[in-house]
Amino acid sequence: MSEKKSEGQLRYDELSYAKKNYFETASEEERTAMFDYAEGYKAFLDAAKTEREACAKAVELAEAAGFTRFSFGDKLAAGDKRYFVNRGKGVVAFRVGTEYLEKDGMRIIVSHIDAPRLDVKQNPLYEKEGMCFLKTHYYGGIKKYQWTAIPLALHGVVVLKDGSKVEIKVGENAGEPVFYIDDLLPHLGAEQMSKAGAKIIEGEQLNIVVGGMPYADEAVKNKVKLTVLNYLNKEYGMSEEDFLSAELCAVPAYPARDVGFDRALIGAYGHDDRVCAYPALTAVLGSESRHTVLAMLVDKEEIGSEGNTGMQSRVYVDLMEEIAQALGADFRKVRYASKCLSSDVTAAYDPNFDGVFEKMNSAMISCGTCMSKFTGARGKSGSNDANAEFVGEVRAMFEAEGVVWQTAELGKVDAGGGGTVAKYVANLNIDTVDLGVPVISMHSPWELVSKADLYSNYKAFLAFIK
Ligand code: MN
Ligand code: MN
Repeated sequence: MSEKKSEGQLRYDELSYAKKNYFETASEEERTAMFDYAEGYKAFLDAAKTEREACAKAVELAEAAGFTRFSFGDKLAAGDKRYFVNRGKGVVAFRVGTEYLEKDGMRIIVSHIDAPRLDVKQNPLYEKEGMCFLKTHYYGGIKKYQWTAIPLALHGVVVLKDGSKVEIKVGENAGEPVFYIDDLLPHLGAEQMSKAGAKIIEGEQLNIVVGGMPYADEAVKNKVKLTVLNYLNKEYGMSEEDFLSAELCAVPAYPARDVGFDRALIGAYGHDDRVCAYPALTAVLGSESRHTVLAMLVDKEEIGSEGNTGMQSRVYVDLMEEIAQALGADFRKVRYASKCLSSDVTAAYDPNFDGVFEKMNSAMISCGTCMSKFTGARGKSGSNDANAEFVGEVRAMFEAEGVVWQTAELGKVDAGGGGTVAKYVANLNIDTVDLGVPVISMHSPWELVSKADLYSNYKAFLAFIK
């Protein structure tokens, strides 16, 4: 029996705003769709632990959806489904719409496919007291102590002396060995545990165990190192010098898994930012739109979007210009009419660490994909602060398609902060706002997201490009 609401209560319900849990508001059918969509996402995660692998997997999915490779100079026409690859580390899948490009612009979703990890140094290999190690230099913002005493896999490429390239991927399949960074036993860890968190494990202690078997020859000084070199030579044709031109990454060797009895959540390495890249890609691959739509999956966001594969690279602007020219449109007019979702993850409110969040403006788990009008730190510094007009426009798109979404800031004012690629797109005079999935334990070896938020992100992209 429900009590009849008072006039004031009804008025309050009408005028006030509160976030909603998407699982609670979703229909049975929609909830099934969330869980089904998560299966494809987990498969993508497992196949795409580095930007190179994510790029290759994206190309595979694009080709399966009938997209063909685009090169500068190619002709384009309405209805074309194409993809562009940048150095095997970035991919842009796009569909040409029927709307007049100078007037309608492009609908762009940008996300990144690099993730924090440990990169092997150029002179990495050494032997010490019966074990052989690889020295590393971490990539992106990590808590170093989280990367010890877990199974690691090695992924990457080696360019050999003769210029040929070999791929290495060891530690992902059952039966394959994994790699390991040691930590101190608590019995002897009293001094270590009294240190500040950043010093518990230091950068030069992130050395990966890769061997322990001495080569059977008394005359050799570094017997374990020789065993490892001998293996690498037989398996990949490598010698030690080839590490100079290698790009090897140590990543957690676990697959993505459902978390919780009810399987509502997904634990995995690299949700940041594949939990946005995969929905961006699948939205653009799967939907027909009158707009010209682009899913840009880029590299190097975790180290500042630098270099020729990061979002600051001129190549992404050149590609947009190339598409405009191929369609006979003036690029400046196209840019000015374009809209962009800069799609990156945000911090989910974590009840175990309540102190760093301001609850009213935190991303709550399962309350949908999250818009950040601005990012930055110390007074929004370094942020693209989206215009209210554009926020209103995107809000209307979501409203029209029944997207469950929320807004948030990353933590309390002055608790820290972060940045995304939004400002690099906005600098082109393209209306841009951040939108992405809330993540718990972001940048750890195993991050946590909600299936509801993943699916909400996908739905938001569909609404944006519709
Ligand atoms: Mn990110
Ligand atoms: Mn990140």
